[in-house]
Amino acid sequence: MSNYARHGLMQAADLKPGTPERPGERCVVHLDMDAYFASVEQRDIPMYRGKPLIVCHTASDFRSHGIVATCSYEARRWGVKTGMSVWEARSRCPHGVYVHANISKYLYNTRRIVDICRSYTPLTDVFSIDEVFLDVTTPALESGGREGQWEAALDIGSRLKGDIRRQLGLSTSVGVGPNRLVAKMAGEFEKPDGLTLVTPDQLPEILAPLPVDKIVGIGRRMKRNFDAMGVQTIGELAGTPRGILQRRFGVVGTLLHQASLGVDQGRVGYCDEEDTVKSFGHSLAMSGTTDLDLLRNIILGLSEAVTRRMRRDGYLGRTVNLRLRIGYAMGYSRAETMEDYTDLPSRIHRAACRLLEREASLGVWPEKITCVGVSVSSLKPSRERQLSLQDWRDPREMRITEVQDRLKDKYGDGVIMRASLKEKFALSGMNLIR
Ligand SMILES: [Mg+2]
Repeated sequence: MSNYARHGLMQAADLKPGTPERPGERCVVHLDMDAYFASVEQRDIPMYRGKPLIVCHTASDFRSHGIVATCSYEARRWGVKTGMSVWEARSRCPHGVYVHANISKYLYNTRRIVDICRSYTPLTDVFSIDEVFLDVTTPALESGGREGQWEAALDIGSRLKGDIRRQLGLSTSVGVGPNRLVAKMAGEFEKPDGLTLVTPDQLPEILAPLPVDKIVGIGRRMKRNFDAMGVQTIGELAGTPRGILQRRFGVVGTLLHQASLGVDQGRVGYCDEEDTVKSFGHSLAMSGTTDLDLLRNIILGLSEAVTRRMRRDGYLGRTVNLRLRIGYAMGYSRAETMEDYTDLPSRIHRAACRLLEREASLGVWPEKITCVGVSVSSLKPSRERQLSLQDWRDPREMRITEVQDRLKDKYGDGVIMRASLKEKFALSGMNLIR
């Protein structure tokens, strides 16, 4: 237990026996790889170890283009940060080692990390290429009972770290808490190689004094809004009437108010189960954008991926759900139900774009969009297809889609794609969240 004390905010011994029962209390673990891309490169290439290593996303040379994807801790000492332009990084750290990101190699490592996580619980969500959430409530209750639940969850976090270090030679920071938001915040307290627990009892005293932008999802733009409102700390945000936040930030305002109280309704690992039964969905995580044309284009790619699976499994659907994640953690969705059932990408795309445009016109996105998801529900088997008026009017899309499907079945999904999607969908490789 003593090494928990070293790494954690709380010692296992501090857990009071006989803490009142809280039915349904969950234990969530957040796993964050430390300086991920750089650590993988330093592990594989001994020459890079101990050096300021800067891994860059870039299409051309390293002179001025591109951004820093990740850098080693040695490079951070020189003020290099993720997201910085390569040009700026070079001016701060001219003697650094600059290399191209090898996304497929990192994805391979991520898959192995996820396999390790799944050996603890099937309730595992890949949040981004270097972050995973695990709901360990069941194993924690099994080994610790209600009283030792948090101690057991912390122990799982510690074993998880050990497994990843032994099997992959990589360092992680782990946070444990009652939901994703708190687990993620707990993990932020100590990096790298941290292991931190925040229990529900500790929430008010730990959260209240922190600056608002410690809430995952509040970035620079949102911070300016709060500065103008005179809200500096999470405690002050919690004290702001919810109606005011709602009027100012729409649905995000409600989510923010909940976040300030340490509440996050989202659950870990349930989307897969629901998806297979009731809906088909795909989502794409990205670094963040407010460019509507880019978003429409991403939605087109997602609509194609979703409808391809629908056609393959023999389903039509008529409710289109658009899910948007704003900033880091705040996600919400909007739905539209169409008059008739379809499995054609253009219809889904148009409906999802209407939803997107409606949301954009409200002007309440306080941060950039970091994840877009499209799913289709209200399903029925496609053998019950009745051609809708629109399909009769323009049967070309049905025919083109059929031909595309046949080509893809024969030669693989990469054989044909819309020219407008070529760069983004081929390059991103970030489509981890299905
Ligand atoms: Mg990381």
